[in-house]
Amino acid sequence: MKLNRKTFLQKLGLLSIPLIAGFPRKTSAEKVPADPNLSSRILTNTVIILGGGLSGLYAGYLLKKKGVRVRIVEASPRLGGRVMTYNDPIRGITGDIGGEWVGDSQSTIHSLAKELQLKIVRPSWNQIISLWDENRLSEKSRSSLNKLVAFQSKSPDNVAEGLDKVSLYRYLKYQGFSDGELDDLDKVVKAFYGESSKNISSQFLLSSIESKKSLFQNLGRFENGAESLVTKLKEFFTPEEILLSEKAIKVSQSSAGVQVELASGLVVRSKKVICTLPTSAIADIQWEPGLPREKIFSLLRIGYGRIRKDIISAVSPPLSPQEGNGIVDWVIPSGKSFITTLSTEGRASSLDRSTPEIGRDLLLRSISGYQPSIVETINITRVGFGSNAVSLFSPSTFGIRSELATPHNQIYFAGEHLGEVPGTMEAALSSASKAVSSM
Ligand SMILES: Cc1cc2nc3c(=O)[nH]c(=O)nc-3n(C[C@H](O)[C@H](O)[C@H](O)COP(=O)(O)OP(=O)(O)OC[C@H]3O[C@@H](n4cnc5c(N)ncnc54)[C@H](O)[C@@H]3O)c2cc1C
Repeated sequence: MKLNRKTFLQKLGLLSIPLIAGFPRKTSAEKVPADPNLSSRILTNTVIILGGGLSGLYAGYLLKKKGVRVRIVEASPRLGGRVMTYNDPIRGITGDIGGEWVGDSQSTIHSLAKELQLKIVRPSWNQIISLWDENRLSEKSRSSLNKLVAFQSKSPDNVAEGLDKVSLYRYLKYQGFSDGELDDLDKVVKAFYGESSKNISSQFLLSSIESKKSLFQNLGRFENGAESLVTKLKEFFTPEEILLSEKAIKVSQSSAGVQVELASGLVVRSKKVICTLPTSAIADIQWEPGLPREKIFSLLRIGYGRIRKDIISAVSPPLSPQEGNGIVDWVIPSGKSFITTLSTEGRASSLDRSTPEIGRDLLLRSISGYQPSIVETINITRVGFGSNAVSLFSPSTFGIRSELATPHNQIYFAGEHLGEVPGTMEAALSSASKAVSSM
């Protein structure tokens, strides 16, 4: 069914949601006392959602469809988290600097796009960045990779755990892949995970390649940028349901309910919470009672790949993706008069640390092959995410996702790192859907 905000709210009879009773503001979060009358102040039909990225917004959207009120707590001044679209109508630029590509078989994001009347379109270039550009592999390597992918999908847990102990790069080298083939593969892996296949579990990457829901397949992107999904979802909430620039610092639970303390001193309470934060942010929160030791170890074992995208206005840009040089890993055309450069690992960090002038210089030098047609680099203020792009499962991380997804009493977990194929917007949405249905 096609929905817009008005019909959605009318359907729920929620066009005028009453303001949720005011919460006391305190000057210092540390000074917020434990509330002796907690049970009388719990908002029973409200779920607090930590994080206003895609996962938090989608969890809120699903809950509201069920008639449940929500309070989304977001630390940054904007919604969307790692999804952000740069728009400049004058120069004709609509470019994603965060999540962008959507796999053909990523069912949650495709059906949500349809429901919200958003279009996912094919890139103008026909060539898909894909591991399955089989022409680049020798016949022997191609057949060996296909066998490995099939093998891992049927492996019992003990075999999968073994495969997880080694990186894909080392495993394929052992299988006889040439250095050139390994480097080609590494470039694709870096584009999606912001990290070399030398540092990612072979079991994780082989299962990702095997999964139809991964990005290793035909891709499309949102016609008006991925942030158009954030903008649409935002319309389903009242202003009172969204707390921006409010960082959760402490979560306490008792039999009466859950109390979330925010850095501003504000306190919000409910019966249940969905936490969609990235793992490092979860570890920074003070939990009472504390998180189980196994969950803490699992949180600490997830790393994050680094990807930074820059947008460069260009005349006659290339028509298909090109490998970059220097600080740039890939140059991706838009079909319009701009390109997006992709820098990963230490190169992403160097750009993050550079002044805009030095960054511009580094970028232009790195794509000097296209320089005659370059117009200018665009200085973008990144709010709500750094270059920690996607969760990373290094060798010996087998099984930690189920540990992390287990609820902590009345706290349910979601977020990109918990989806079927971590590292994607699809995973952010599907994990939210799972958390909501398990409540
Ligand atoms: C450069 C880049 C390229 C990418 N490319 C793709 C792609 O092509 N395709 C794809 O599918 N995916 C891609 N991704 C990944 C995708 O964007 C993410 O998987 C997805 O957006 C994650 O959503 P999330 O809601 O799980 O997390 P987030 O978007 O990180 O949301 C979590 C939110 O929690 C907030 N927060 C943190 N701490 C606190 C706190 N203490 N209290 C309150 N709020 C807090 C954060 O500010 C953030 O808004 C890319 C990501 C990046 C950065």
